[in-house]
Amino acid sequence: MPREHHPDGYLKHKRRSIGKRDPKERTGDYAEIWAPDWDPEHLKDQGERCVDCGVPTCMSGCPIGNRIPEWNDLVHKEDWKEALEQLHATNNFPEFTGYTCPAPCEDACVLSYNDDPVTIKSIERAIVDKGWKEGWIQPEPPTSRTDHRVAIVGSGPAGLAAAQQLNRAGHHVTVYERDDAPGGLMTYGIPDFKFAKKRVVQRVNQLREEGIEFVTSTAIGTDLAADRLHDEYDATCLAIGAQKHRELPVPGTDLAGVMPAMDFLPQENRRQHGTSVPNGVTAEGKNVVVLGGGDTGADCVATAHRQGAKQVVQIGINQKPPSERPSDNPWPETAQVFKKTYAQEEGGSQEFAVNTTELADTDGDGHVNELRAERVEWTYENGSRVGKTVIDPDFRVAADLVLVAIGFTGPESSPFSSLGVQLNDHGTFATDDTLMTDVDGVFAAGDARMGASLVVWAIGEGRDAARQIDRYLMGTSKLPASLQTQNPPIPFR
Ligand SMILES: Cc1cc2nc3c(=O)[nH]c(=O)nc-3n(C[C@H](O)[C@H](O)[C@H](O)COP(=O)(O)OP(=O)(O)OC[C@H]3O[C@@H](n4cnc5c(N)ncnc54)[C@H](O)[C@@H]3O)c2cc1C
Ligand code: SF4
Repeated sequence: MPREHHPDGYLKHKRRSIGKRDPKERTGDYAEIWAPDWDPEHLKDQGERCVDCGVPTCMSGCPIGNRIPEWNDLVHKEDWKEALEQLHATNNFPEFTGYTCPAPCEDACVLSYNDDPVTIKSIERAIVDKGWKEGWIQPEPPTSRTDHRVAIVGSGPAGLAAAQQLNRAGHHVTVYERDDAPGGLMTYGIPDFKFAKKRVVQRVNQLREEGIEFVTSTAIGTDLAADRLHDEYDATCLAIGAQKHRELPVPGTDLAGVMPAMDFLPQENRRQHGTSVPNGVTAEGKNVVVLGGGDTGADCVATAHRQGAKQVVQIGINQKPPSERPSDNPWPETAQVFKKTYAQEEGGSQEFAVNTTELADTDGDGHVNELRAERVEWTYENGSRVGKTVIDPDFRVAADLVLVAIGFTGPESSPFSSLGVQLNDHGTFATDDTLMTDVDGVFAAGDARMGASLVVWAIGEGRDAARQIDRYLMGTSKLPASLQTQNPPIPFR
């Protein structure tokens, strides 16, 4: 059915996304922050706001080229089942993105040039919510099998997308994961209140029923040699993420009470799963400082509030972004503007342009008590900090727990060095255009190849790696290419 043109839908209906629960209510529990229900009539109207503008810049804003105008129109026509088909054509796990994506597509929507963009992410979520509710999402095992065996290392969104695509092409796929449950950062990293883990479980069940084998609690390089994997499988895909955290270069990081965000956040995921965390750390009753102004930091702030912190201060090193797009960041680029995070909606304070100089133990008991810093004004060149003026040399904050969320430097690659896999200048796996590393038959995808980024990029990378692996094994591939844009990935901090 051809798409309908809706020239005045955006004049009839104001933008209204699905929304979130009240911050006061949601900080009292670990249920998702998103409003649990939505009204089909509301989404029907929001779909009509899409003007079918002819050059869908939203699609190039989406790293996997989701067919956004198609499903906007289909939702408006109430053909939800076909909308789900169109959504799955480019995205294996639309609920992963429909709940967690920062939606760069909306910045690129033509309406956002001088109006409010279409609620693309809400429509995506609604379609896939309905798909699960109606039982339309079912295992789709291949009708025939090849003799090829493929090993995927890592079960984050990149590994899962690669596995599903390769399995649907008929290959025998085994996913190896060092954690006790599949999902990567979707399971152990992203807080449960941002993304409920039942959503990973239902997808992994689908993949299992399609014939994919999962081997968990098995670290490649420790429990099973990488060389053995290479010898036993016809192709291997390294989708191990980029979870090596950046070190804070100041005195005091070895004090008790200072820990990387990624040691802290998975502990709460485990508690929410009902698993005990021996010697675990919580923010209850503490003065918490979160170092890092990005989204991992925001997840620490929100977790600390739920655990009952006394005070939470989030500290970023960079200047506060402007409230309006600067002239060198025009539409349809992702807008580099200040947006209050969901975590700051819930409380706490946020400081910008604060350069930490020391974590101090003022009473000599080996435990951190205070963060010392200078408040500065930075000068930037090409986005990098090149100079500073010190505004206040003696900035101090009380700190019983310091959570360090200042970014990631690359994959934990040492288990694969025996294979001869090389890293590039950014510290991620070096690959050629076919996503193959220097080692024949060993591919890389997701954060492990690009550096820490977004769920949507990881899904796209997994799809692309699957297509290249299928071509490597078969000489040709019917699997679709995924990344329709060659934009650099959006970094995740
Ligand atoms: C706290 C946090 C919150 C985030 N929130 C968002 C968000 O809201 N929206 C968004 O778009 N992005 C978010 N991201 C980023 C997003 O989660 C990642 O970009 C994405 O998960 C990367 O997927 P991946 O498959 O490449 O790697 P990962 O998800 O990191 O998965 C890699 C997997 O490989 C496994 N592994 C590693 N080494 C081995 C080995 N030797 N043997 C076996 N298994 C191994 C790991 O255990 C892990 O399970 C967040 C990241 C963090 C840290
Ligand atoms: S995956 Fe993200 S960028 Fe793509 S359509 Fe969905 S919300 Fe937009």
